[in-house]
Amino acid sequence: HILVAGSANLDFVVRASHVPAPGETVLGRDMATFPGGKGANQAVACARAGGMPTRMLLALGEDAFADPVESSLREAGVALTVVRRNDAATGTAFICLSDDADNAITVAPGANASLRAADLPPLAKVSHLLLQLETPVEIVCTYALAARAAGVQVLLNAAPARELPRQLLDAVDVLVVNEGELATLAGHPGSLVAALAGLEVPCVVVTLGARGSLARTNGEVHLQPAFAVKAIDTTAAGDTFCGALAARLGQGDGIRDALRYASAASALACTRLGAQASIPARAEVEALLRK
Ligand code: ADP
Repeated sequence: HILVAGSANLDFVVRASHVPAPGETVLGRDMATFPGGKGANQAVACARAGGMPTRMLLALGEDAFADPVESSLREAGVALTVVRRNDAATGTAFICLSDDADNAITVAPGANASLRAADLPPLAKVSHLLLQLETPVEIVCTYALAARAAGVQVLLNAAPARELPRQLLDAVDVLVVNEGELATLAGHPGSLVAALAGLEVPCVVVTLGARGSLARTNGEVHLQPAFAVKAIDTTAAGDTFCGALAARLGQGDGIRDALRYASAASALACTRLGAQASIPARAEVEALLRK
């Protein structure tokens, strides 16, 4: 199966005319809560893409925010390895969405920051491990190295943006980044081509928002245009892309087919409000792919 190890949060979302500037207060509209967190969103996207069973390793607090986070994952068909913390709160995210689909997000990691090496479930039946950077980078590194040693393919979505230890990059088979994350990894805002060439990872995928995505494998670059949709909330677009990509690669798709599926899935996620609630099921994605 596919194992996702990472963050799970409860998102508090408020829509407003614009995202506040530093020091500014904006009066928004009604607040709504949605299960989110990059790890959990990607696990849901992976499960909804079907094909292979998905399991997630996550840490939650013993509080009222844990229940909706756990139920959403279970309802999507994700098997769970839950670490319960009585000394940390369930992760939360405070999201402001503007009317032109821009967003600003503050995350309080809580229990997500408490994952330990010993929490990693057995890898014997795992073919792919999908990681992000909303849990401490040391633990991401430990899990990646354990997976590599066990012959498991390692996918890393290097988000949110930060520099990475060499040891971690060396353990990654597929790296997924957006342009900002790529520039951070490259250490300069230079050209996409130069940044791509500088990364010694077997496969690098760069998401380019409404411009689509590209994959660099063995010196070959493949461009996948985005699917044209009316975007209202791009919150989980990148997560949907990563989860769907992992699911398709796990099923044995080549990178081109996997990229095409991930693009269609993430385009559909942009047409709906929320994180996990907006992630499409396989049938909807296949319908868009047939159009
Ligand atoms: P992130 O949110 O992580 O920065 P992107 O904005 O690059 O990620 O989006 C990830 C993927 O979602 C893109 O590669 C693209 O396939 C899809 N996507 C994002 N925005 C749109 C859009 N407006 N229309 C269609 N597809 C989109």
